[in-house]
Amino acid sequence: MTVLAQVAGVVADLRRQVSSLHGELTRYGLVAWTAGNVSARVPEADLMVIKPSGVSYDDLRPDVMVVTDLHGTLVDGDLLPSSDTAAHAYVYRHLPHVGGVVHTHSTYASAWAARGEAVPCVLTAMADEFGGAIPIGPFALIGDDSIGHGIVETLRESRSPAVLMRNHGVFTIGRTARDAVKAAVMCEDVARTVHVSRQLGDPLPIAQADVDSLFDRYQNVYGQA
Ligand SMILES: [Zn+2]
Repeated sequence: MTVLAQVAGVVADLRRQVSSLHGELTRYGLVAWTAGNVSARVPEADLMVIKPSGVSYDDLRPDVMVVTDLHGTLVDGDLLPSSDTAAHAYVYRHLPHVGGVVHTHSTYASAWAARGEAVPCVLTAMADEFGGAIPIGPFALIGDDSIGHGIVETLRESRSPAVLMRNHGVFTIGRTARDAVKAAVMCEDVARTVHVSRQLGDPLPIAQADVDSLFDRYQNVYGQA
């Protein structure tokens, strides 16, 4: 029995999840044309489910999603995997707690990335979700492991599940693909608000002890038991 056959049920579920989560990227206005992608790790299989390359969001369905190994080699599917597959795969290889990865070029977050400036933590919602500033990752060209390496090295130094890759856009991670999508939505939301605040003057910093307290509460206490 192949590895793929052993995890067929899980892969079928993840194909449905990853396909429908792409609908959140369009719903929240985070993507243009075919840019942007969501992936999910297949637990205990060294595989991932990701969007195929260059397919319109209207045509994304569970059976169109592709399965690759954690080096980006196609394992199951009729189409080529996303051109960002190597970056997703690198993150899964190096951050074992990550179950989902999202990439977008969402407007406000990418505007900060274009200037190479981290989004400062000046909103309680940022302290909650990101535990501080949203950091900037290095400039990196697509084609090898440089993007993945830059994502992992930057996020290892931060509590943030989002990194703004310089001159490029957003990568987010999560325990699940849904968590990573949520981080991408929240990243764009706060990047926009802090941008608007900057037009009005200087946003006020939040004391580190308060950032820590907000982050701890939101990550450990907030929500339904
Ligand atoms: Zn990109």
